[in-house]
Amino acid sequence: MGKGFTHLGFSGHSYLEVDRSFAMNDEDQRNYWNDIHALKEQYRGKLEIFCGLEQDCYSDPPKLAYDYLIGSVHHIKKGEEYPQVDGSLEMVQKQLDTWYEGDFDAFAKDYFEVVGNVLEMTHADIIGHIDLVLKHCEKTGYQPTANFLDYAQGAVRKLLPCGKPFEMNTGAMARGHRTTPYPHPDILRMIYEGGGQIMLNADCHDAARLDCGLELCAQMARDVGFREHVIFTQRGFEPVEL
Ligand SMILES: [Zn+2]
Repeated sequence: MGKGFTHLGFSGHSYLEVDRSFAMNDEDQRNYWNDIHALKEQYRGKLEIFCGLEQDCYSDPPKLAYDYLIGSVHHIKKGEEYPQVDGSLEMVQKQLDTWYEGDFDAFAKDYFEVVGNVLEMTHADIIGHIDLVLKHCEKTGYQPTANFLDYAQGAVRKLLPCGKPFEMNTGAMARGHRTTPYPHPDILRMIYEGGGQIMLNADCHDAARLDCGLELCAQMARDVGFREHVIFTQRGFEPVEL
């Protein structure tokens, strides 16, 4: 409230058998659900609190009723293995060598193929960090190539008709990996030109950084032409001026 928020959604990570490093198991999810619902009561009339879940594309459907789901891709399936898209730089580089002979665009092609299916896989209400694969691009100096943008465009085109908002996500900024939010401005423009909607989400994992980068998100969104973003309310998504 001190930061001026009127609505606040929590989005813990769904359970993921293939990578438990950031996942909540059934018991964690029950505790999380109870804690957030207690906060809902505590702040009733002062701050609208929502209990959401970041639903990974490779997770089983949620067992509890959440206010909204964010559909996200954090892994690519390669045979029986699941290389992680947003691991450490060392991990990602090792995977690139193992699976893609170091070819980042080939990795991105596989990633965006999964992203294009993320709503079918998760039945989510919001599309999470669409170009998470660019997590380390500032450190590696990678600039999206024409091929990369084609793969991204394929995913955006597939997702747009579902009418779900795409998030602008400052998680990598809050954790010091990047100075700019997801998505890349060229992908943001694809969403704008395709008539899509955006949400400005923190994904900060830290209450003190809830507003981290949101002004930059708003500026980037205005720069490509957006005049509004949506927020989640009791009545569903509502547009708000940027
Ligand atoms: Zn995520």
